[in-house]
Amino acid sequence: MKINVTKSFVPPAVEYMEYVSKILESGCLTNQGPYVVELEQRLKDTLGTPYLKLVTNGTIALQLAIRALDILDGEIITTPFSYVATVSSILWERCTPVFVDIESNTFCIDPAKIEAAITPKTKAIMPVHVYGYPCDVVAIERIAQKHGLPVLYDAAQAFASNYLGKSLLSFGTISTCSFHATKLFHTIEGGCVISHDKQTYEKISLMLRFGHNNDDHIQLGINGKNSELHAAMGLCNLKYVPEIISKRKAVSAAYDRYLKGKVQRPELPAQLEYNYAYYPILLEDEAALLLVREKLNAQQIYPRRYFFPSLNLLPYLSKKQACPVSENIASRVLSLPLYPDLSMGNVELNSSLVKEAIG
Ligand SMILES: *Cc1c(COP(=O)(O)O)cnc(C)c1O
Repeated sequence: MKINVTKSFVPPAVEYMEYVSKILESGCLTNQGPYVVELEQRLKDTLGTPYLKLVTNGTIALQLAIRALDILDGEIITTPFSYVATVSSILWERCTPVFVDIESNTFCIDPAKIEAAITPKTKAIMPVHVYGYPCDVVAIERIAQKHGLPVLYDAAQAFASNYLGKSLLSFGTISTCSFHATKLFHTIEGGCVISHDKQTYEKISLMLRFGHNNDDHIQLGINGKNSELHAAMGLCNLKYVPEIISKRKAVSAAYDRYLKGKVQRPELPAQLEYNYAYYPILLEDEAALLLVREKLNAQQIYPRRYFFPSLNLLPYLSKKQACPVSENIASRVLSLPLYPDLSMGNVELNSSLVKEAIG
């Protein structure tokens, strides 16, 4: 049986079908329907963030956030160690990513290197809580305040990670999340934008529905809405989140036991309540990584090179910028299979294959 790095959570069919019947009966399929409204409310309550809008996906969420902050062709300081959508959304909005290298222990942007990257053209800082690990939000906030810059957190991987007593999605000027099927909590495709004032919230609400209220065309917009069928999947899945996290935690703990002292692992702050979204291991070098992957692939086990390449090395960037820490980590980091119903036997097998490969 094939084992992938992740497997989408699927709720009991009857629970979803009940929503589908009701949606078809009502004839209301999209445009801020009752299930979208209900899911938004449940998420606001769960996360403690009253200004949350559900959107099409985590990429549109980032693009809407960039637009909401009125960033036009400026520089955005970001991390090279993330999924490609972080950087492609900046480029898609015709802005320039300026890469600041990461910390070798948390894999998040290194706040000590941010100020040196600020220029008169800098319009925002866009850090990523990579793997659901918290950025140094306190240091970043201090720098942002000092320079009068907004902070836009790509929190796509941080759903249900809590830090300093609150949701990681509640930091920054704006935070975005992805509810893609591969993420811990999902609506099949989807995402959200979280802001902290009514004005920004209303601007985002307007932009995601083409910028108009009936015949009143107020500003440039796009279609960033999500459908009733997607919201229904979210409503089904939300109540399973605690169970999903506790099963992921058990799988992670088993990997910890089998791999302790054999592979390097990130060091995380004590105040983190982690969501166990990923299980990255750091191998000695890229050759070791390729050997481990080959060994696992031969048994139809497919870990992923999350995250590779370091995004400062994307071939379509116009300017090359060096980020040695990120490049080094990206070359030797591998995410092992992790999902709620991964069997303990499989965790043991995966771990022993890793250990065999590294000798
Ligand atoms: C998944 C992800 C995205 C993109 O989200 P989609 O919903 O797939 O568009 C953006 N940034 C990061 C860090 C991600 O992990």
